[in-house]
Amino acid sequence: MQTRALLAVPASLFLAASAAAYAQNAVKPSPKMTAKLTPEQVQQSAIVIDTHADTPQRFVDENFDLGDPLGNGDFNLESAHKGNLGAEFFAIWVDPVPNKGQFARRTLILIDSVKQQAAKHSDQVMLVTSPEGIELAHREHKLAVLMGIEGGHSIEDSLALLRDYYALGVRYMTLTWANSNNWADSSGDVDEPNIPHTKEGLTEFGKDVVYEMNRLGMMVDISHVSDKTFYRTLVISRAPVIASHSAARALCDAPRNMTDDMLRAVANSGGPNSKGGVIQVNFYSGFLSQAYRDASKAQQSEVNKAVQDLKDKYKAEGKEAPPAEIQKLQRQFADRIPRPPLSMLIDHIDHIAKVAGVDHVGLGSDFDGVQSQLPEGLDSPADLPKITAALMQRGYSAEDCRKILGGNLLRVFREVEQVGKELQAENRPRITDKQPFDKPQK
Ligand SMILES: [Zn+2]
Repeated sequence: MQTRALLAVPASLFLAASAAAYAQNAVKPSPKMTAKLTPEQVQQSAIVIDTHADTPQRFVDENFDLGDPLGNGDFNLESAHKGNLGAEFFAIWVDPVPNKGQFARRTLILIDSVKQQAAKHSDQVMLVTSPEGIELAHREHKLAVLMGIEGGHSIEDSLALLRDYYALGVRYMTLTWANSNNWADSSGDVDEPNIPHTKEGLTEFGKDVVYEMNRLGMMVDISHVSDKTFYRTLVISRAPVIASHSAARALCDAPRNMTDDMLRAVANSGGPNSKGGVIQVNFYSGFLSQAYRDASKAQQSEVNKAVQDLKDKYKAEGKEAPPAEIQKLQRQFADRIPRPPLSMLIDHIDHIAKVAGVDHVGLGSDFDGVQSQLPEGLDSPADLPKITAALMQRGYSAEDCRKILGGNLLRVFREVEQVGKELQAENRPRITDKQPFDKPQK
């Protein structure tokens, strides 16, 4: 924390000195003059926001503490401070298979783990729920911690649970994870014929979920959903949407990545007066690099066999293979594939900025969610300044960098809250609510 505060000083001093110089010479600051900022100064003067880290699994399952060394993970307080990270959205992700029948229980445990960590490290961390909260934490040189639910199955088909999660501080929800639920379809299983899917991407209840999120002022997150669910959601959402951790399909053909048309649709999402949504780019090598993805696919049968062998070994002893061991094995295989260069992540940011606009792109790392399969030189938030440097090398201005680093997400978050206030005043009945004319006549 000390380091961070000290580091923040030169940037602000520099800005103040520049402002004084402009005033003295009565010269209007030209883009050329602001371009003199170094990447370090830009990084230090930005509110850097990452919208997706899966660290809460580690809090609960590994007893991981934010003050611990990274170990085999990607996120801790030290690295966040080194990279001048201003805000992290921790993902509340409930693995649907082992938690079948108790999605809400696991959701609440994960939420609690984030709160416990924030309380324990209150000298360095501030749990916040609003754009103003992010700015306040930034002014106090603390890391703002927020929460987003990954996977609509967490609400167990209940708008009441959705509202409860909002009350506990959750500020976005991906409508699905890799699993389709009863009201929205996932890109992860949309082609599997044995899994039931909706007719139009969202059921009537699914539309109510989106409306209720709009009304609460919770960001609607379309990462992971099927293309049909994506378009259906964009048609009905009254607020701009976010993709908390998604990349560009034109550069890497993953079903979970977004086509150019989808990127533009996010930029145009929200009502007629909306400034549009934002795509927060995922850092996972398998979403960034086609070569990595192909190599990963090529070893899939070998991986599956090794996992089966491990399971059989445990089964022979009458036990179940521990998930941690399975993960370790999978990671050994993944580590054999060469990491893509950092420039590939920049290619995705650049592509989205060109297709959707520089106001519609940001960072959604997926730290602790991708078995550390990240581009070369990008191991934790401490390496985030490398992204700023690379963007400036490609000609992005200091102002554009600040937008990408967090400004765009803050703008969308504010607008989502504003739309929520407007809808709360409207008091519109929900789609699945009985309409007055449905009531039986006396
Ligand atoms: Zn995810």
